[in-house]
Amino acid sequence: MRKTIPIHKAEITPENKCSFCVGSKCCTYLTQQIPTPRSKHDFDHLLWQISHENVHIYKDEDGWFLLVNNPCTHLLPDGRCGIYENRPQVCREHSNDYCEYDAPAEEGFELFFDSYESLLRYCRKRFKRWDR
Ligand code: SF4
Ligand code: SF4
Repeated sequence: MRKTIPIHKAEITPENKCSFCVGSKCCTYLTQQIPTPRSKHDFDHLLWQISHENVHIYKDEDGWFLLVNNPCTHLLPDGRCGIYENRPQVCREHSNDYCEYDAPAEEGFELFFDSYESLLRYCRKRFKRWDR
């Protein structure tokens, strides 16, 4: 009879959680809140911004944001922070209590635009005279 050998997973605690996070997800992008776009002019400006590489746009319960998917230049190949002792305050305040390790940030988005085309489609729906 074959025996099943149980595999004991290491317990994840707030202290060791980040060491399990391959690539340190929260250090691989930045977000910047932007004013709520309302006019065609506002959306035209966003179309320019999202035309740049790795720039996405989302809206969640806190408002509209630019999402720039570029890793921090201080992120070391092994996932540690190269300036840990002097890291910016925003990094110190980022909690690992239910963070990107637990669920993709996209889950909380009401709107998400990952390309010029996706935002343009939204503009055409929102403004009937967009192309005129
Ligand atoms: S805070 Fe969360 S996303 Fe960031 S490194 Fe730790 S586990 Fe990963
Ligand atoms: S400074 Fe350090 S903790 Fe902050 S985003 Fe860059 S690598 Fe991450």
